Amino acid sequence: MNIILLGPPGAGKGTQARFLVEERGMVQLSTGDMLRAAKDSGTEMGLIVADVMARGALVTDEIVIGLIREQLETVKANGFIFDGFPRTLAQADALNDLLAEKGESLDGVIELEVDDEVLVERIVGRAAEAAAAGQPVRADDNADAMKIRLMEYYKKTSPLIGYYYAKGQLTKIDGLGEIADVKAAISKTLGG
Ligand code: AMP
Repeated sequence: MNIILLGPPGAGKGTQARFLVEERGMVQLSTGDMLRAAKDSGTEMGLIVADVMARGALVTDEIVIGLIREQLETVKANGFIFDGFPRTLAQADALNDLLAEKGESLDGVIELEVDDEVLVERIVGRAAEAAAAGQPVRADDNADAMKIRLMEYYKKTSPLIGYYYAKGQLTKIDGLGEIADVKAAISKTLGG
């Protein structure tokens, strides 16, 4: 089963993806994690994306589609969870093509709906918690970058909601509930 977790930054996509990995043995493909790893290891691509990411803007479709292509060509999985990808219509089309090349398809898209005010609080809170615990703070977890991340989401990613709805693939889930409730709602959508 291949699914997309869709939603604004801070909606809880990463947290829920990890549950699906633990409980269903699916493989999480997070372009954000891949880009951060490239940045941390100082590859040429990592250097190119570092500034863009720190500002909260989207990196190019070409780069992220390349990352996903590489994973889909090399990783064997009992289903993929796309977390933070696709973020544009061009990425959505590319994903369809990449899955079709493997003889696979997308089984569903889960949208985590969250109120904008709560998002900003969550993200800024996540940074404060990490800092207090002496853990690394994401360069883009601050109020300025967060505004740009939200803007990018509404301009470029939110059209995907209508796109997948029209294809009959969208399920909306309230992302504001307790983590366990969101998890249960996702399980139900995926057939228990
Ligand atoms: P995330 O961890 O998903 O919040 O992603 C962190 C940052 O990585 C984003 O703000 C973008 O700069 C970049 N990024 C991650 N995934 C994508 C994507 N699919 N398309 C463009 N940029 C992305």
